[in-house]
Amino acid sequence: MPIWCPECNAMLVEGTSECPRCGSRIGTSESGDNLSGTDVAWFSAYTIAIIVIPLIIGVGIALLCLFLFFI
Ligand SMILES: [Zn+2]
Repeated sequence: MPIWCPECNAMLVEGTSECPRCGSRIGTSESGDNLSGTDVAWFSAYTIAIIVIPLIIGVGIALLCLFLFFI
């Protein structure tokens, strides 16, 4: 199936990322991969924070209770 340039309506070869007539970039599925990669990294950092912060608070409360018990 031929692809048509959205800017100048020139017929393009399938797989080209740039129009040979007007030079405008043609949207490909590869361009969105970088954004999703950063989203995954941000999500994993957020998940680690959610797990680690209550763990630190829990250990702190446990140590405080132990300390008060011995006094
Ligand atoms: Zn074009």
